[in-house]
Amino acid sequence: MHPSVQSSSGVSGDAMRLADRASALLAPEGPIGRTMPGFEARPAQLQMARAVAETLEEGGVLLVEAPTGSGKGLAYLAALAVYLSRRHEFKAAASTATITLQEQLVRKDLPVVSDAVGGLPTALLKGMGRYLCLLKWRGLAQGLALITPADLETFDRWVAATKSGDQNELPGVPSWWGEVAADHGDCLGPACSLQLQCFALQAKEAARRAQLLVTNHHLLLLHRRFAGSATSPLPNAAPVVIDEGHHLADIATEVYGESCSDFALVALGQRLHGLAPSSKDPLHQQIEAAIAVHGSVMNAIRPKGFEPIPVPTLGSALSEGYLEALRRLSGDIGKRTWDVIRDRSGTSANERAAILIRMLDGYIAAIHSILAPATGTASWVEPAHQRNVTMVLRNAPIEIGGSLDGLFGEGAPPTILCSATLATGGSFAHLKAKLGVQKARELILRPVFDYQAQMRYYLPRTPLDPKHKEFTDQVATELLGLLRASEGRALVLFTSYEQLRAVAERVRGKLPYALLVQDQGSTTALLQRFREDVHSVLLATARFWEGVDIVGEALSLLVVVRLPFEVPTHPLARARFEAARSRGENAFQTIVVPEAIMKLRQGVGRLIRATSDHGVVAILDGRVLTRSYGRRFMQALPAAPPLQTHDEVAAFLNGTGVVGSRR
Ligand code: SF4
Repeated sequence: MHPSVQSSSGVSGDAMRLADRASALLAPEGPIGRTMPGFEARPAQLQMARAVAETLEEGGVLLVEAPTGSGKGLAYLAALAVYLSRRHEFKAAASTATITLQEQLVRKDLPVVSDAVGGLPTALLKGMGRYLCLLKWRGLAQGLALITPADLETFDRWVAATKSGDQNELPGVPSWWGEVAADHGDCLGPACSLQLQCFALQAKEAARRAQLLVTNHHLLLLHRRFAGSATSPLPNAAPVVIDEGHHLADIATEVYGESCSDFALVALGQRLHGLAPSSKDPLHQQIEAAIAVHGSVMNAIRPKGFEPIPVPTLGSALSEGYLEALRRLSGDIGKRTWDVIRDRSGTSANERAAILIRMLDGYIAAIHSILAPATGTASWVEPAHQRNVTMVLRNAPIEIGGSLDGLFGEGAPPTILCSATLATGGSFAHLKAKLGVQKARELILRPVFDYQAQMRYYLPRTPLDPKHKEFTDQVATELLGLLRASEGRALVLFTSYEQLRAVAERVRGKLPYALLVQDQGSTTALLQRFREDVHSVLLATARFWEGVDIVGEALSLLVVVRLPFEVPTHPLARARFEAARSRGENAFQTIVVPEAIMKLRQGVGRLIRATSDHGVVAILDGRVLTRSYGRRFMQALPAAPPLQTHDEVAAFLNGTGVVGSRR
């Protein structure tokens, strides 16, 4: 046992179970408490650390809902650290969905936890695509479709100076980054002449030497899918804690699917021309011909409107002709003999041809699975509005559960999935069905905040019906009353831009508070203004339903305009509903409602972020009262007393005359 990990009972280290050692690490006078400024021992944190440690020791799957403020990051890192501290040959990983949380773990929690067990080799494992591929840059930069000469020069200076090749060092990620980024799909590996200088491989080596890795869900799933051998930085046998676990299904849908833009082949074609610049060269003509067929295929599947549509069925002559032209092109590049002499860029035509063949083959595989979707998958096209990209083609599994056996199946290493919102109505049933989890220990930790005292609900006395033609006017009237009562200080969550704009038009100029509207700036800039101007009102949609962390008075009123039901027009959502129906389920009850409940819980969770916070949640969508499913929504939210009028809202927020207010 490391001397810094002591049990309160004085039991010697080896005799102590992992759970006791993890608790000892997090005890009030334990090694973390003695060194971490502001550390407070929390019962929920200890309970979670013990449960994680037991799962690491005994195996299986653990699902933990750990509410905001429970300190779950420190809990699982402590358990992982004690698990690894005496098993130097073992590895484990903590995975998150967002870079913000990864950075917080690596900067704040991990160093303290590592010191507490006497030093643990740790690393942040990022995706290869975060690093520059020197071979692509040196050999193919001139062929980049979107680069300007000035960009070329500035970027070249960065390439000469950087030690890490990590895109994080750049002030902004250029639109053409994807074309020079390292990619496991086309990396030449040992055949690459720049292998010894390769940034991605150096980072991978550092990760291979580490015992405890922090990574992201995308990479974790990619490793589980393709690369998790014993020598990989993240072996398949390594136990893993998946934080922000409510994002896992969506990220798995991306990882186990394929995607490409309509511009991808055109950009690649430009670089392929670098191999055969003369228009008389038959290869040059072959590339031109392939791009022409590509144009016809893209025109045949382009959506007419603004919504994603299923990939239209193409005539077999067109789709087979297209794939055949691309395969022939790849084969013909491979058959030609390329020069192995390096030019001034340090690369040879042979290497450039090799990497371009891999890129082309990757594209062919993706487009094949999109145009001819396998059973159990769905393909669709989404309109896009980026430079040169007008649509994105995608394919994904309809049910993701079957793909996640490496995490949740029989024989998988210990897997712990946690988040502040994982359960619906106190049950993990929906999550388990979605992720294909058969058997798991389950833990729902008690809320850290005193919602009975800190929070109130307000629902309009006459329920508003979102289907009513005057709903938008009614929302605007309610909102004006509420915002006067709260003196601004409000985040108003919408489910569509259209409705947001319509309501913004109706309330603008009628209140003495700054009105911030989501499309007026970047998320960071808007949140900064919202925090600083305490009485401002922020109208927002999608990404503001989660991840917004505003402590204090600036967020005193949270308004939910409509229940966040997914609109079942997306081809993948439709395919999922169809699959549920064919299993004899009512897709609305088994998919739509639980998903909306999770999203509502995320949204409502924006309000109380600290024990000093207090505020009101106003739900304007009357369906929580008038529909049978409405009760499921309210039961899934933290219990707190209701308010009846705008005056009561004002009184509660001002701390006058309302029982339970802490102000
Ligand atoms: S080893 Fe792979 S990623 Fe690294 S420079 Fe070579 S081709 Fe690019």
